[in-house]
Amino acid sequence: MIKIFKFGGAALGNVERIRALCDIIQKEDYERLVIICSAFQNVTNELTAIAKSHFNHKESTIGSFQKLKSKHHKIFDQLVPNRQDLQDELNDLFMETEWFIEDQPEEDYKYNLDQIISVGEIASSRIVSHYLNHQSIDNAWVDIRDYMITDNEYSNANVLWAETDQRLEKLLKNHTQKILITQGFIGSSTENFSTTLGREGSDYTAAILASKLSASSVTFWKDVPGIMSSDPKLDIHASKLKKLSYEEAIEMTYYGAKVIHPKTIKPIIKQEIPFFVKSFLHPEEAGTTISAEANIEYPPLTVIKKNQIILKFQTLDYSHISSRDSSRIFEVLADHHIKANLIMTKAREIILCIDRDDILNKKINSALANNYQISESRNLKLTTVRHYTSNTVDELKSKQVLYKISDGITLQYVTDHA
Ligand code: ASP
Ligand code: MG
Repeated sequence: MIKIFKFGGAALGNVERIRALCDIIQKEDYERLVIICSAFQNVTNELTAIAKSHFNHKESTIGSFQKLKSKHHKIFDQLVPNRQDLQDELNDLFMETEWFIEDQPEEDYKYNLDQIISVGEIASSRIVSHYLNHQSIDNAWVDIRDYMITDNEYSNANVLWAETDQRLEKLLKNHTQKILITQGFIGSSTENFSTTLGREGSDYTAAILASKLSASSVTFWKDVPGIMSSDPKLDIHASKLKKLSYEEAIEMTYYGAKVIHPKTIKPIIKQEIPFFVKSFLHPEEAGTTISAEANIEYPPLTVIKKNQIILKFQTLDYSHISSRDSSRIFEVLADHHIKANLIMTKAREIILCIDRDDILNKKINSALANNYQISESRNLKLTTVRHYTSNTVDELKSKQVLYKISDGITLQYVTDHA
């Protein structure tokens, strides 16, 4: 029985949490365990800021990187004290990135970004691996970039399946230890450059490994008790879901729920490998199980997307919106990888709700301004309620709703984000 554990950044937030990880592993039953580590809490964001400052030739870049390095060395020293040899080894791991940022940036920002941010997971997983060894928990550290081969669409790379499958087949044979410690989110191009799978991509790595290794389950260790029906910070009625079907998880992530990375379900759905979402703070509590089980009764599930804009495209000559108009507008969205979060069509208008991104919005405008009268409203909030009830509908009456669409299961509405 092979199990996959994924520890996100929050689960690797500090020394105590890494110690807790060790307890969790010791209490678990498995034949083989593959542990996927994210970068330490907030490190991917910090490295992204460093990549930006490197790209903009800022002098402070090296200083910021040194700070981030010493944060890792400190955590490492608390977990595995007085091991200068291991500290030196960690220093060597950072060296390549250090050389990279001492050099001039390449033209492609996303290429630079991936070379820099990948060190976050390399360092965190290395520290966890040495700590477990120090606790006499034998394990092998694996550089997943030797296995996860991608194209070179930096920062949102696509897995090259034939090559990756072939390599992953050998993973468990190459490393015979019971526990493997590796990274999520990162991969390698065929030219041996680091790539990344998109933010929060380590969930996706966990699913790919589960599928290729025919794991019996995947557990996502998080700082929440499981998947919640809505954001507990905004809603006192938020409750933990005991079960979620794959289908519902796909729906929720489509509408923007941050439960798991949207690509995560696809690799494991055929093999029906269950996912467990659990709290590393209360490992004894059952979290949420995501599985093939259908016919689950759900409370209303609410997903909120902030920082939305509405774009309205109106025909110039009072003609009706035609299929030609739809295809023209959606082609521009596709060219810029923009997802419409809400789509409405009227006699003379196509109305879209999308994430605000000023640069992309300008591109849409210049591509379509000759064909349509375009207007834009900002600072909006899109709320999606799956499995809405009559209560949901009643509550809407007291809100200033700008747009609303619904079918039997899903209700979406746009309000001012005050
Ligand atoms: N460390 C990466 C991020 O914060 C990937 C991940 O944690 O899934 O996006
Ligand atoms: Mg994460």
